[in-house]
Amino acid sequence: MSVDAIDIQRGEVDELVAVRPADVDPAEHLSFARNVFIPLTTACRYTCTYCTYFDPPGEASLLSPRDIREIVRDGADAGCTEALFTFGDDPDGRYTQIYDQLAEYGHETIHSYLAEACEIALDEGLLPHANPGDQTREQMQTVAHLNASMGVMLETTADVAAHSGKRVKTPEQRIQTIETAGELGVPFTTGILVGIGEDWRDRAESLLVIRNLHERYGHIQEVIVQPVVENERWRGGEPDLDTLRRTVAMARDALPEDVSLQVPPNLAPAGEVTDCGIDDLGGVSPVTDDHINPDYKWPALDHLETIAEEAGVPLHERLPVYERYLPDDLRDGFAGTPAGTPRTGGSWISERIRDELGADTDAGRRYRAVIADN
Ligand code: SF4
Repeated sequence: MSVDAIDIQRGEVDELVAVRPADVDPAEHLSFARNVFIPLTTACRYTCTYCTYFDPPGEASLLSPRDIREIVRDGADAGCTEALFTFGDDPDGRYTQIYDQLAEYGHETIHSYLAEACEIALDEGLLPHANPGDQTREQMQTVAHLNASMGVMLETTADVAAHSGKRVKTPEQRIQTIETAGELGVPFTTGILVGIGEDWRDRAESLLVIRNLHERYGHIQEVIVQPVVENERWRGGEPDLDTLRRTVAMARDALPEDVSLQVPPNLAPAGEVTDCGIDDLGGVSPVTDDHINPDYKWPALDHLETIAEEAGVPLHERLPVYERYLPDDLRDGFAGTPAGTPRTGGSWISERIRDELGADTDAGRRYRAVIADN
C-alpha cells in the first residue's frame, strides 16, 4: 500500500464528521444503468459476517459459459447495457471443485475465466463491469481491457469484527486494488458500507482515502454509500435514516463534483437522501435478482422515475462507464473531463471497448443512444 495515498491532513476527519445534510447541495439530476447481474462464482476466500453471497467449499457455484451466454443474451434482449460480474474474492485452495470446473472450461484461474466471460458479454452486446474483489496488478491486467469499468467496495478503512474468520480481508488490500486501478487508468467504482462496526471517524477517513486516491489518479467514477442490511447471516442491525443521510452528506462534501454519488435504491430509501447530494441510483436489472442481497428486490424503473420526480430533477440512463471517461467523439457535448492519467493511448477506455461503443451493431447503436440521451 502506498501510505501517502491515505495520508489525511490533520483536522480533515473532524471537519468531515461535522458535516450535516443542510451543508450540501442536492444534485441537479439522477442517473441509473440497466444491467444484468452475473454471479460468476459464489466461492470466496473470506467469510464476512454480513454477507450471504459466499458459499462454502462444496456448495459454491461457478456459472458455465452457456449459463453466462444465456443471462447476457436475455439482458441484451431486455435493452440492458451492463454485464455486472460479481465474485467472492479469489477462491483459495479449499475450493477444489471450483478449480476442477475451471479446468474443465480450460482455465487455471478465475481471472482467466472472467476474461472469457467478458468476451461472451461483449459478443452478446453488453459492456462488462467486473467486481472481482481484491486484485493484484497482474489479475487486473488480465481483464481490464475487456471491461468498460471495474470496481471494489472499500467498505471501511477500519478493522472491524465483521471481517472475521480465518482469512480476513484487510483495508490495505482493498486500497491497493483501488490504487492499482488508478495506475492502470481504469474507471472505477468503490464505496463504503455503513453499519458494520465502523464509527463516524472511520466513515470520514474512508471517504477521505477515496478522495485522495481520486485526486491522484482521477479514476473514481462513482462512490456508493451502502447501508448494511439484515439477512440470514447478519443480525447486527441496520443504520437508521439519520445516519444514512449524514453519511451521504459527508460523502458529497468530501468528494469532488466529478465523482458521482450513489445510494442503491433496493437497500436504502434513496428518495429520502436525494437532498443530501446523490446523483445516481446505481444499476438496476429488469432481468436478474440482486444476487448479493437476494432478499431485496430491484425497484421497477417507474419507482426510479418517482424518486426523480419527487426530487424535482431529471432521470437519465447511463452506461457502466460514465460519459466523462469517454473520448470526445463519443460524448458529444459533455463538458467535464476527469483529472488524472488516462489509460495508455490517451483514453480511459480500451480500444476493445471503444470499438464496441462505435460499432455498427444493435449493441453499438444502443450504447450510443444512451450516451446521446445525456
Ligand atoms: S463481502 Fe465479499 S469478500 Fe466478504 S465474504 Fe462476501 S463475497 Fe467474500
